Amino acid sequence: MQPTVDSDRIFDVIVVGGGPAGITAALYLARARYRVLVVEKEEFGGQIRITDEVANYPGAGLTSGRELTATMQQQAEAFGAEFVLAEVTGLELAGDLRTAHTNRGDYQAFGLVIATGAHPRQVGFKGESEFKGRGVAYCATCDGEFFSGLDIFVVGGGLAAAEEAMFLTRFARKVTMLVRKDQLRAPQSVVEKVLADPNIEVRFNCTVEEVAGDSQLRLLRWRDHAADTVQEYRPPDGEGFGVFVFAGYEPSTGLLQGLVELDEAGYVVTDANRKSSVDGVYAAGDVCIKNLRQVVTATADGAIAATELERWAAAAQARTGIVPQKPPATPAGNVAASGVTPAAVVPGSNVPGSNVPGGNVPGGGTPISGIAGSGGGTPVSDTAGTATSGDTTATAANPTSIGQLFDAEMRAQLDTVFSRMQQPVILQAVLDDSPAAAELQAFLQELAGLSDKLSLNTQTISAALPNAASEEASGAEPPTAPESPRATRRPPTTPQLQGPLGAPNLPYVELLRADGQSGNLRFHGVPGGHETTSFILGIYNISGPGQPLDEGLAAEIAAISQPTALSVLVSLSCTNCPDVVQAAQRIAALNPLVSAAAYDLRLYPELKQHYNVMSVPCLIINQSGRPEQISFGKKQLPQLLELLR
Ligand SMILES: Cc1cc2nc3c(=O)[nH]c(=O)nc-3n(C[C@H](O)[C@H](O)[C@H](O)COP(=O)(O)OP(=O)(O)OC[C@H]3O[C@@H](n4cnc5c(N)ncnc54)[C@H](O)[C@@H]3O)c2cc1C
Repeated sequence: MQPTVDSDRIFDVIVVGGGPAGITAALYLARARYRVLVVEKEEFGGQIRITDEVANYPGAGLTSGRELTATMQQQAEAFGAEFVLAEVTGLELAGDLRTAHTNRGDYQAFGLVIATGAHPRQVGFKGESEFKGRGVAYCATCDGEFFSGLDIFVVGGGLAAAEEAMFLTRFARKVTMLVRKDQLRAPQSVVEKVLADPNIEVRFNCTVEEVAGDSQLRLLRWRDHAADTVQEYRPPDGEGFGVFVFAGYEPSTGLLQGLVELDEAGYVVTDANRKSSVDGVYAAGDVCIKNLRQVVTATADGAIAATELERWAAAAQARTGIVPQKPPATPAGNVAASGVTPAAVVPGSNVPGSNVPGGNVPGGGTPISGIAGSGGGTPVSDTAGTATSGDTTATAANPTSIGQLFDAEMRAQLDTVFSRMQQPVILQAVLDDSPAAAELQAFLQELAGLSDKLSLNTQTISAALPNAASEEASGAEPPTAPESPRATRRPPTTPQLQGPLGAPNLPYVELLRADGQSGNLRFHGVPGGHETTSFILGIYNISGPGQPLDEGLAAEIAAISQPTALSVLVSLSCTNCPDVVQAAQRIAALNPLVSAAAYDLRLYPELKQHYNVMSVPCLIINQSGRPEQISFGKKQLPQLLELLR
């Protein structure tokens, strides 16, 4: 018997996967006035979100993957497509109404579009999973810098491997490519560049057999098939090294096993109109068998599948008499009982403001010049290097260096966010005399000058001053790891917000609510690069009403009853980090027992050393009565909440 669900959870078509293929299918169906739901487990936009430069999508010019897909989503939403963040965990394909089981409940529809895309392939050598995040990596942009001055091995011989090998020469002492075949599979121009690069050695006919180590990688063993020998690499004493795997992608079709026909590699077998072996079930994008896996072919598939499904849904409506209807609009700020976010409330995937898709505010893919990862920036002459301690206040009435960091487009986007803030927010900066502190102050001064809802309090802690205050306030045990000079200067600090290693890690900015109470959100360092969006969203969520949130997730956040500190170690160039920072901040903004702090790891080598971080984001969870939990990799709110259960 078919499971039954509430009528507001019945759609003409459910699209599984919110990448370019899925969003396009939704756009076409919604425009044809069908009720369509896109279910996405991570973040709308799909794989292309991690790419800062997309230059081959016709009509879009040079854009970023985030920007491109955010626009696609806005277009689909404008026609009434609905979106929900949930993971489809199972499908039932019998009967007129097919069921998608998700971790947020069941949804039903006459037709389905499978647009689940692909994910990086693990090679499967011994130690690969064990050392993921501790030497074995899959994202050069995110993790390359952790191997500065060390040797790096790249596993793979395709275009991605070749390009990433060249990129990694920025950091590595030497890059060695281990290629399974006897040639690189990349355009000749790229092959020539790689082979001519003195910092890259390419070894053909090699397959990795094993990595091993302790807290870092200490051994790599591979088979050279041409020489029929097993070879080893061991780094110099005390050093680790990196193994970056770029061995292609595999289709995300686990859900479909036994339900629709798949080829040997797991791709969905379809006809020319993208119909799978089951009527009413279509596939689109990278999950399909095809020669070219690109955004342009994914969107084309989505459009073709959707057009076919229009006919399928019309016939099913006529046959069953069921015409899926949207529930009445809910008040702004709420979500429908179905868990689906009404398009009118969230024009972007998860950010306030129709023109503020993640990645459009400064640094969300576009680093702010002079801030992102520079360590330099614009020093503020009367603060940097002073040996005094005291408080100053800068508000909109007293701005300094306005107009240098945020261009007109960014300011327009920020204005949209500021106009929706219900309460003022105080930016409490706690600075030392480092260049980063001067940079943070300049950043905050300019930001505070953009809205009268923001004000800036600055406290400077001198290296020369004793700092017993925070030890008294925190009651913290002395740190277990050696402190950096920066970590020994202790400002008064909210006990709950005491950072990892029990040190305040200056400089930082804390968000305070209008009444001066801590909002339990902090950024250590300068929130530039990919973290600017997180920082702005943090401000918005503290000020209220905050981003809309599914009732189930809100209840789960409210149910956290133990004091919990979430610390996220990030790099400003990491595209996977903002998800974790934003998820941690959402929880902290809603539950006073939870604090969320992000750390730009570049500034806090002691944290990198203590937690042995070779990959970002690194999430550290300290929860009363439980051992410290450390995990790596991208996480959305549901996944983070799962770790807190
Ligand atoms: C580093 C990189 C650079 C690239 N550069 C370019 C480029 O410059 N130009 C270009 O045209 N293409 C580029 N591509 C290729 C392009 O990203 C893909 O072809 C395109 O994203 C495919 O879109 P899709 O919708 O089929 O799948 P995806 O983009 O993979 O989206 C699938 C979505 O489905 C979701 N999903 C999976 N399983 C479930 C589930 N069970 N429940 C709910 N949701 C689920 C995933 O989270 C994901 O968001 C690049 C790819 C990579 C990795």
